[in-house]
Amino acid sequence: MPIATVNPANGETLRTFEEMGAEEIEQCLAAAASAFRGYRTSDPAERARLLNRAADLLEQDRDAVARTMTTEMGKPLAAARAEAAKCVKAMRWYAGNAAQLLADERPPQPEVDDSGASLARVRYRPLGVVLAVMPWNFPLWQVIRFAAPALMAGNVGLLKHASNVPQTALYLGDLFRRAGFPEGCFQTLLVGSRAVEGILRDPRVAAATLTGSEPAGRSVAAIAGDEVKKTVLELGGSDPYVVMPSADLDRAVRTAVTARVQNNGQSCIAAKRFIVHADVHDAFLERFAARMAALTVGDPMEEATDVGPLASEQGRADLEELVDDAVRRGATALCGGGRPKEHPKGWFYEPTVLTGITPDMRIHREEAFGPVATVYRVADVDEAVALANDTPFGLSSNVWTRDGAEQERFARDIEAGGVFFNGMTASHPALPFGGVKRSGYGRELSGHGIKEFCNVTTVWHG
Ligand code: NAP
Repeated sequence: MPIATVNPANGETLRTFEEMGAEEIEQCLAAAASAFRGYRTSDPAERARLLNRAADLLEQDRDAVARTMTTEMGKPLAAARAEAAKCVKAMRWYAGNAAQLLADERPPQPEVDDSGASLARVRYRPLGVVLAVMPWNFPLWQVIRFAAPALMAGNVGLLKHASNVPQTALYLGDLFRRAGFPEGCFQTLLVGSRAVEGILRDPRVAAATLTGSEPAGRSVAAIAGDEVKKTVLELGGSDPYVVMPSADLDRAVRTAVTARVQNNGQSCIAAKRFIVHADVHDAFLERFAARMAALTVGDPMEEATDVGPLASEQGRADLEELVDDAVRRGATALCGGGRPKEHPKGWFYEPTVLTGITPDMRIHREEAFGPVATVYRVADVDEAVALANDTPFGLSSNVWTRDGAEQERFARDIEAGGVFFNGMTASHPALPFGGVKRSGYGRELSGHGIKEFCNVTTVWHG
């Protein structure tokens, strides 16, 4: 894939970029290694000052960087602004809380301690240079949720961003430089995915984090495994959205639409499979399909737009194949199911609701990365749990029920990194984020996230 800004709303190539060559990559690696030597022992209060400064700059740049994101990957402008604001909050949160999260720990003291454990404490030290391979769908947020904790822990970062968001990627490198982080602490590498292996195998790189698709995750994890380097993987998702009879149906329907079409349907934690109890199935389906059909599809720069284009032509082709396969095998599209005629340019796809899904359909097992919902009918809690878990993914989940016993059952049995009741999944700096099964491993955000790239060191004094 060339490194370029191509406007998905009309397919126009606006800017292309030269990929970094071996010499430039080497300079970046050398700068990162050199930066780490000094930065690893820097004063945490100084790191916090720099991160707060970066947050202030991003706040000032919010509108401009939001326009860049919308131009590069097509998310509605209001959502792009909200993404930038969310990044500012996360940066301030880590600046304010990292010292406490990484404070030395003492093990719980046994009553009579003859093991010597009471003489020890646990110290969180930085690992080193961390390579971050990031996707285009939240082009600021995915990077900041790695960079803010990593920098606060004393690590340094190398960003390999997705090839279709180069201007956002360059902005991020500049942001940390302008904030005053020492040269080499956070650098953007304009490289394609083929360059990742060489960088990851370089002895100066200690670890990697990847947010993206399963094939990309598998490849990076295999190389890192071969090099015995730590990885965190945030991969795909096909989150269930369960609606039980005690749900507040109006809110469940309204939230279902947002949960499915946020970011033009291209979110790993979007609700994708709607699993509805038979008692409320028909009422839910009718209202949900009506609201999905009423969404405004169009230019993402327009404030009135709910759903913009998909980020790439290939992404739309993949989604079309999934829907066409389902319809060919007997699914019904209650709304959508194709390209909107009023937007012939650009990579638009209609908000779509599919019913009659059977296990032989690809969409039953694969992730639909666009505004396409599948709706299932279930008879009881057992069937809802079984269907929620009948997926290779396990990122998050949403359940609408006001019944306490049911809540306990779902919280116990859903195989996912999150269970959100009576609301939709969202990430928050204070809460761990990540998945199980094919959605990856490790956690971002919260104290768990900042410790992923730490050397958890036992310090014992005799
Ligand atoms: P993708 O193709 O995997 O791209 C993501 C990043 O990985 C890009 O920087 C890409 O570079 C790079 N990449 C691709 N193949 C690679 C390889 N073999 N080796 C090394 N790097 C490689 O992902 P996508 O399809 O654009 O993004 C959507 C996917 O990301 C969905 O599955 C979505 O659910 C997932 N996602 C997960 C989360 C989460 O937090 N769990 C968040 C957002 C998205 P190029 O652009 O240069 O190819």
